[in-house]
Amino acid sequence: PETGALLEVNNIEVIYNHVILVLKGVSLSVPKGRITALLGGNGAGKTTTLKAISNLLHSERGEVTKGSILYKGRNVQDLDPSDMVKAGVIQVMEGRHCFEHLTVEENLLTGAYTRRDGAAAIAADLERVYDYFPRLRERRRSQAGYTSGGEQQMTAIGRALMSKPEMILLDEPSMGLAPQLVEQIFEIVRAVNEHEGVTFLLAEQNTNVALRYADAGYILESGRVVMEGSAQDLRENPDVKEFYLGMS
Ligand code: ATP
Repeated sequence: PETGALLEVNNIEVIYNHVILVLKGVSLSVPKGRITALLGGNGAGKTTTLKAISNLLHSERGEVTKGSILYKGRNVQDLDPSDMVKAGVIQVMEGRHCFEHLTVEENLLTGAYTRRDGAAAIAADLERVYDYFPRLRERRRSQAGYTSGGEQQMTAIGRALMSKPEMILLDEPSMGLAPQLVEQIFEIVRAVNEHEGVTFLLAEQNTNVALRYADAGYILESGRVVMEGSAQDLRENPDVKEFYLGMS
């Protein structure tokens, strides 16, 4: 049946180094065109879930040992990471991972490497990225390693946009950023979602900010989903308030 889900993760188990069971049966459904938040504390398994989806676990000696991952109804577990990008799914890693010796603009252009639609289309999209991130236009000629943490996070998201994705897996965008900058980044995520129709699955420890921008959320604890619901239901849930929003 047509559920409207772009991505479906069904009961996956992930094991690192053949012995460490980190995800103990995680299921998620990410509707097309929406922002879905994956919440939970340090070590809950958020990054592992994102890497399982984008097939980035192999380089970390991690393996999905149970369950399935369907993108547009198709099992994508055998794709390698670059085929995942061609299929429309790109991950923005935690800690930003810019090429520090390249300029901001060169970093953005590396995001277009899988595209075959020509220089004019790529140049037009570069301008669109600069429209979302005016700060990056100002810093286009700067070496990325010398830009601020916020600018590097913007560069990492902008680079992902340059691959023309349908879905972005965004890992901990708020990490290490001042509150005002976090708000600015989430505003841009919302604008990209609204204007480009890009679907987001974002991992966040900052429950408060994530639930203000997301449509729905899942809360992970020790490799299991312990709660799920619309962002509004989660914001109003007494347990979420007490344990994740710091109020009771
Ligand atoms: P964080 O916000 O700290 O990234 P997280 O919710 O994203 O937390 P994960 O990074 O997915 O959590 O980690 C989940 C668990 O898996 C942790 O206990 C972590 O120590 C373990 N883990 C992560 N990567 C590996 C690895 N390559 N080898 C072994 N264990 C790992």
